[in-house]
Amino acid sequence: MYQFNYFMPTKIFFGRGQVKMHPEIFASAGKKALIVTGRQSAKINGSYYDVIETLQQAGVASVLFDEVEENPSLETVEAGARVGLVHHVDFVVGIGGGSPMDAAKAMAVFIKNPQINQGTIFQSEKLDHVPVIAIATTSGTGSEVTPYSIVTSKADQTKKNLGQTVFPIAAFLDSSYTDALPYHITVHTAIDAFTHLVEGYLNTNATRFSDQLAEDGFRVFGNCFRSLCSKNLSFEFRDTVMYASMIAGVVIAQTGTSLPHGMGYALTYHKGLAHGVANGILTIEYLKIFKNFSKIESMLNLLGYQTLSELEDVFKVLMPDVVQISEEEIKEFSEAIMSNQAKIKNHPETVTLDQIITIYKKSLL
Ligand code: NAP
Ligand code: ZN
Repeated sequence: MYQFNYFMPTKIFFGRGQVKMHPEIFASAGKKALIVTGRQSAKINGSYYDVIETLQQAGVASVLFDEVEENPSLETVEAGARVGLVHHVDFVVGIGGGSPMDAAKAMAVFIKNPQINQGTIFQSEKLDHVPVIAIATTSGTGSEVTPYSIVTSKADQTKKNLGQTVFPIAAFLDSSYTDALPYHITVHTAIDAFTHLVEGYLNTNATRFSDQLAEDGFRVFGNCFRSLCSKNLSFEFRDTVMYASMIAGVVIAQTGTSLPHGMGYALTYHKGLAHGVANGILTIEYLKIFKNFSKIESMLNLLGYQTLSELEDVFKVLMPDVVQISEEEIKEFSEAIMSNQAKIKNHPETVTLDQIITIYKKSLL
């Protein structure tokens, strides 16, 4: 007997040149847009100018907020929302990697609910938001097709989900924006996408339907890993990894992520590790604690590997860096994850503090 819910309301436009082909999507969202980007890349990779041209064609006015930092803070969300409110925007266009897209989603909530601030957002009921259009320029987070917005809370000294549901009305995935993405960001973001597939596949909330999608992702990821290891980043690779990243986003939109993401947030906040590395560095040891290995075998098979150690070798090539961390810090981070029920419940087997400590230690020391 199959039983599951599936909800993914985002229109997906995948392929080179898609933004300029669809002014009607922007026109349908309102008369004035807040464009949200990081500090530089959207202007360099052409995505920002494609959006400006398309908005002009659609007769939509816009105002730019281009100050989103990596792992965006709630202060930045508030600042961007203020710009949106002052200029009476109807909707938000997030252009960039996960940071600007997540910030755009959070700003869409704050704009619709001007009484909300960083002190009250996490205690709020479900809030409405103005429409969001997402334009991905990295192949990693899948944020363009997920309802999540991950923000840095300085008060809580960590990164966390805003706790609201903000699916973009439309997602544009044009891999030409990623053609000049530097090698190290390409690797980190691809590993993020891969960990989404893994954590969505090995998840309490996984369904036959989400598994089909994840399996398609694994099927193409074997080639992606080969390209990354040989540093052969062709247009075809850029397209494939963007596709895999989008699929992975659709999977976690249904399942959520699991232990490595929950454990990785502390490594980003306290140790400065890039998001994909923070999860990826824990993934192999996380796979090793599973008692039921059958799904892991299916995953390895789809990737084209015989054993987990083949995947481990790939990870060693792609993430050779080590992080300086003490046993005390590991204990502190482990206790924090054990109290993060949202992540623990997504892990389909019983998990103990000792196992969490073991994953951190074997991965990092
Ligand atoms: P990012 O933080 O958005 O960007 C990383 C760097 O890449 C920035 O320096 C950015 O420059 C640059 N960059 C972006 N696109 C580029 C391009 N096409 N060419 C050259 N450089 C480019 O990285 P990300 O890994 O995509 O996003 C990570 C964030 O997403 C984290 O906060 C993570 O928690 C979150 N996340 C969200 C979800 C979700 O479902 N919502 C899922 C996973 C992760 P600029 O700053 O100049 O743009
Ligand atoms: Zn992630």
